[in-house]
Amino acid sequence: MSIREEALNSAAELGIYECGFLAASEIDVSPEVRRLCEQNACGAYGKSWACPPGVGTLEECLKRMRAFTTVFHFSTRHELEDSYDFEGMMAGKQAHEAIVPRVRAFFRERLGDGIMLLSTEGCRRCKTCTYPDAPCRFPADLHPSIESYGVQVNELAQKTGVKYHNGKNTVTYHSCVFFNE
Ligand code: SF4
Repeated sequence: MSIREEALNSAAELGIYECGFLAASEIDVSPEVRRLCEQNACGAYGKSWACPPGVGTLEECLKRMRAFTTVFHFSTRHELEDSYDFEGMMAGKQAHEAIVPRVRAFFRERLGDGIMLLSTEGCRRCKTCTYPDAPCRFPADLHPSIESYGVQVNELAQKTGVKYHNGKNTVTYHSCVFFNE
């Protein structure tokens, strides 16, 4: 069975709502996304190796992504009480991030460590990040956000067939695994 078939067959068990594949050569970056990071609305800009400018320039990010053959894009969907349900959004984010290590383990078990995962946030693993004075302590477990690499998630979703939004009073989170077939 191919890795694609295995991933599709295991998606529900892994907690994935929707997923799809894309040739990594079709992924692109947008200076506009990087400009949004620079505005630092989330407060994570320049705080770790998982956010700009620590992840590198857009050109470096694009080169890193396109060094793989394939992208596995997956989402999780979470119910909200209403569109102002911030706690529900944060709970959904935590639930999404809880399945990320399982998806990573799924790919690593089959393909080894040579995969890359982009997820939903800047890194807060260590009490004090080494950025920018020394290399990351846990580079193999670093999951920069998809946006930190300059990728428009809604455009990615159009290409992979994964829905960007899933309706009123829900929130959808997205991650990607880059791998070689
Ligand atoms: S794992 Fe630690 S050192 Fe690496 S980016 Fe995250 S907080 Fe910084």
